Amino acid sequence: MSENSETRLNFIEQIIEHDLKEGKNNGRIATRFPPEPNGFLHIGHAKSICLNYGLAKKYGGEFVLRFDDTNPSKEETQYVESIIEDVQWITGEDLSNQIRYASDYFDQMYSWAEELIKKNKAYICNQTPDEMRDNRGTPSIPMRPSEGREFSPDKNLDIFRRMKAGEFNEGELTLRAKIDLASPNFNLRDPVMYRIIKANHHRTGNKWCIYPMYDWAHGLEDSIEHITHSICTLEFEHHRPLYDWFLDNLDNIWRPYQYEFARLNLTYTVMSKRKLLELVKSGLTTGWNDPLMPTICGFRRRGYTPEAIRAFCREIGVAKMNSNIDVIKLENAIRENLNKHALRRMGVLHPIKLLIENYPDNQTEQIEAINNPENETDGTRMIPFSKTLYIENDDFMENPPKKYFRLSVGREVRLRYAYYVTCTGFDKDTNGNITQVRCTYDPTTRGGTSDDRRKVQGTIHWVDVNNAINAEIRLYERLFLKENPDDPQDPTDYKAYLNPHAIEIIHDAKLEPSLSNAAPEQRFQFERIGYFCKDNIDSTPDKPVFNHTVSLRDSWAKIEKKN
Ligand code: ATP
Ligand code: MG
Repeated sequence: MSENSETRLNFIEQIIEHDLKEGKNNGRIATRFPPEPNGFLHIGHAKSICLNYGLAKKYGGEFVLRFDDTNPSKEETQYVESIIEDVQWITGEDLSNQIRYASDYFDQMYSWAEELIKKNKAYICNQTPDEMRDNRGTPSIPMRPSEGREFSPDKNLDIFRRMKAGEFNEGELTLRAKIDLASPNFNLRDPVMYRIIKANHHRTGNKWCIYPMYDWAHGLEDSIEHITHSICTLEFEHHRPLYDWFLDNLDNIWRPYQYEFARLNLTYTVMSKRKLLELVKSGLTTGWNDPLMPTICGFRRRGYTPEAIRAFCREIGVAKMNSNIDVIKLENAIRENLNKHALRRMGVLHPIKLLIENYPDNQTEQIEAINNPENETDGTRMIPFSKTLYIENDDFMENPPKKYFRLSVGREVRLRYAYYVTCTGFDKDTNGNITQVRCTYDPTTRGGTSDDRRKVQGTIHWVDVNNAINAEIRLYERLFLKENPDDPQDPTDYKAYLNPHAIEIIHDAKLEPSLSNAAPEQRFQFERIGYFCKDNIDSTPDKPVFNHTVSLRDSWAKIEKKN
């Protein structure tokens, strides 16, 4: 990622530059992206990845991908693998030497817990989770103490060791920090540090039956990795005093600092892992990598590029105020990126035949077409052309309205890159459906570029019938019809707002023959239609599948206004 611009510094960059000026940490910068491996990454995570990775790059610092794998009951290896793939895809870098696991630090964390017990700053509690909730008090009433709070450090240490050895059952005991039962910040009312979980951990197996809580573990992980700026989302602002308390009460450790930024929310999108998991489990989408999902792997399959996602994250910036970003911004970023880089091709989604009556019967000629007008070095290609072509069925009208500039009887249009043709008639079957449009061509207009002799207003795309390849095209619209589908004020379940027409499958589209060589995940602009990406999973040698990435223009805003 080298697109760091010279634009105004965001508030975290300001903090970092201030720290660098002060000579803090000998000018070293280290950041991390710390996902819990309990789901696939979504576009919100991309913001955090771009921020953390981008800062490390910009300031010549270090970046680690750390799995916060402290809860064995929800975590799975498949998530670890997908997260590594996604983070490498977004950053464009091989991170294999920068991957860390919180579970590798369990021994160290455990000995720090003993240190706090010995200092009389942590104790064993025998309250059940329900009791703890009932005892937590109110802003004016302190939390009711647990008897372990008054045990001697020796006694607590002994019980803690037996807890680790597996002598107690899940839910029976916890280790809690001894901080302040009356704190107005409930996070400081003697929070739990360890609870008993008797489950198999994806990396440590059955070695442990006590697992650290997020607040206890996170700062320690940052400390072990010598992170300088631990950047998280705003919900953790009220946890920061606890982050600080743990680190300040341990001796001789590296001291990281936490900073909070606003998480990404996108219109027409749900981002909670729980809801995304529900969409997958309930079969409402075909999986985490369904092109309709706001996951990184879904966007990738849809045809989004990492460059576009990074550009989007740069554009939305980093702030301290939560807001809802218009999904159009993301779509614009991908459109802009593909406009520059995607090769142009011709494909007909809803074919109807066009017969050129005065074209020689058994002739095929090669027509030169430009691969990308935005980039001359992409060159040109040759496309076969003959007497019968496919065109889009809506590029012909029997009874055209006034401003219709495409084909109708008597009207002349340009066939993209080829010739001018004039419509002479059409044929219908016994049911009255149009089966074929007829025309004549003007052999002097080869190349189809502007002709001084006469103007044609319409240009249509085409594919030679004899050389077309068949393809399946999947057209996508937004997954949700409502701008804010999981509005907490709205009692209706977010699933009620799913767009029933989010996907439309075209089984027999006709594409120009060069597309038979398309690579998996290769992206194209189908001229006049939109951007498409070859599906990596469902394409077969006989029948490629192309996913609609984004439209050529932002047509949604217009549609919405009209409604
Ligand atoms: P959960 O809390 O349900 O596990 P999560 O989305 O917080 O979900 P994590 O794996 O903990 O999942 O997230 C990893 C990192 O990504 C965290 O640092 C978190 O702050 C950040 N992150 C998560 N969601 C967003 C978002 N929408 N915008 C920006 N950053 C996010
Ligand atoms: Mg989280």
